[in-house]
Amino acid sequence: MPDSRPGQFLLSVVVPMYNEESGIGIFFDTIEPILEQVTSNYEIICVNDGSADSTVELLKQNHLRNPRIRLINLSRNFGKELATTAGLDHASGDAIVLIDADLQDPPELIPDMVDRWMDGYDMVGAIRSDRSSDSFGKRVSANLFYRIIGKLSETPLPANAGDFRLMDKRVVAALKRLPERTRFMKGLFAWLGFRQTMLYFSRQPRAAGSSKWAFWKLWNFALEGIFSFSTFPLRIWTYMGMITAFFAMCYMFFLIFRTLIIGVDVPGYASVLVTILFFSGLNMVGLGIIGEYLGRVFIEVKQRPLYLVQERVGFDEEKSDGGQP
Ligand code: UDP
Ligand code: MG
Repeated sequence: MPDSRPGQFLLSVVVPMYNEESGIGIFFDTIEPILEQVTSNYEIICVNDGSADSTVELLKQNHLRNPRIRLINLSRNFGKELATTAGLDHASGDAIVLIDADLQDPPELIPDMVDRWMDGYDMVGAIRSDRSSDSFGKRVSANLFYRIIGKLSETPLPANAGDFRLMDKRVVAALKRLPERTRFMKGLFAWLGFRQTMLYFSRQPRAAGSSKWAFWKLWNFALEGIFSFSTFPLRIWTYMGMITAFFAMCYMFFLIFRTLIIGVDVPGYASVLVTILFFSGLNMVGLGIIGEYLGRVFIEVKQRPLYLVQERVGFDEEKSDGGQP
């Protein structure tokens, strides 16, 4: 049974921005008329994620032009996931849309999302049905990533769903209750549940500026996803241990028989060395995996705020600092 939605509602749009000066103008020019067409009661919460260019100044100018544009200025670059979290913490809408600033997520989809929300869905995701605007390398690695995590994670992760989505305010309230500091948003969204649906769109090339994801950042992002949403890498070691022990036993029997039949020839210098190297290798990888999890535990126990806000523009009351809602 779908819930009834309020006749008058506030639509919040949360946009993380990092060095987006070249794209801000066209972003607002595109999104504002679309939002106007949905409701005159909207807010655009722009989170400046420690940009080194004139993003902040441009956002302030835009706020003066249209007070519905609000700004949260983080104290430094915290990364997209935390910038998004900061925006969500400040969004007071009945429905909240997450969108990138580069127009790769088409704002034209927002009215459809709101329609679905009106139909009673709590979360409306957007699937990139066509990634041909992304580079070949990025497509292949993204594909591989979704395959691996699909196999490993206990929470199924919809492939090619970006962060672009609409959420009901109770989904956002639920999201805020997830206290973890290592935030892999895509996984968190999937973990939440609620009534979800998907829309399809084809991903456009960036309107302006360049992608902020270098290979290394993406690699770390993928590891984040795997280690935050799966304990499989820890469990691998049980199987690896069993398999290597089994082969070691076979080898032992082989050696015993060989000694019985042909006697001792050359002392097994090479085989001992190989065995030692093999097992120290296994040990090191195993330690590394434990380290990945331990590192995450370490980050969690420090209980640091998720992000720090340097200034807010356009918000009524001063909200509390730091990441905890
Ligand atoms: N972004 C951010 N902080 C960062 C990196 C990116 O807030 O450290 C924002 C960026 O401004 C954009 C969105 O996250 O609005 C997506 O970034 P980008 O377009 O570089 O990612 P891609 O589309 O290549 O995945
Ligand atoms: Mg982009």
